[in-house]
Amino acid sequence: MSAPLILVVEDEPTIAAAIARRLNAEGYQAFQVGDGLEAVAKAAELQPDLIVLDVMLPGIDGLEVCRRVQAETPLPVLMLTARDDETDKLIGLGVGADDYMTKPFSMRELVARIKALLRRVDRAAQLRAAMADDAVVTAGDLTIDKAARRVHRAGREVHLTPTEFDLLAFMADNPRTVLTREKLLEHVWDWVDASGTRTVDSHIKAVRRKLGPDLIRTVHGVGYAFEPAE
Ligand code: CA
Repeated sequence: MSAPLILVVEDEPTIAAAIARRLNAEGYQAFQVGDGLEAVAKAAELQPDLIVLDVMLPGIDGLEVCRRVQAETPLPVLMLTARDDETDKLIGLGVGADDYMTKPFSMRELVARIKALLRRVDRAAQLRAAMADDAVVTAGDLTIDKAARRVHRAGREVHLTPTEFDLLAFMADNPRTVLTREKLLEHVWDWVDASGTRTVDSHIKAVRRKLGPDLIRTVHGVGYAFEPAE
């Protein structure tokens, strides 16, 4: 997978450069634009995965940029505003941005929001693909309805948290395959970190507690495998 492309639309050169630098350091490909009309053209040309969009811009403002870009190809937009009440106003107007941040913000927070936004978009795309493909996975007395995000075992509905559901659905898509904790982290959580392996273990534990201990096998020192009875 290539690095997600992020278009940074900001007319303040120092802020734009700082954002781009940080995003590149985080493994994204950042492109800077300082003008509203240029932003619309660049978005059409580059087809970025996400746009970080300042509201106050020369040419046309961020609201108009957002409208024009969304009319062309809908893509996630994180809007940068000057004040909290400006954010409220924009939400009220239904501008079509997916998230808002008020200046000044920390780069760490910006990166966290971008990650979350890309993750959400990715999830939605995966869900659509799953719905078109095989919306319902059946394994023995277990049924996973990916479109409705509901799980039944032996005719009884089992309530999983969104992450537990994503974990089970991913494992069920790869039955009888040993999945490392790192692979599970990458696919279900979208991040890999040394501390993450414990997160995987605790979620596996939760899924087993809810669905029974027999569906997921522990492969010691390696990971887990989804192995339902035939
Ligand atoms: Ca500005």
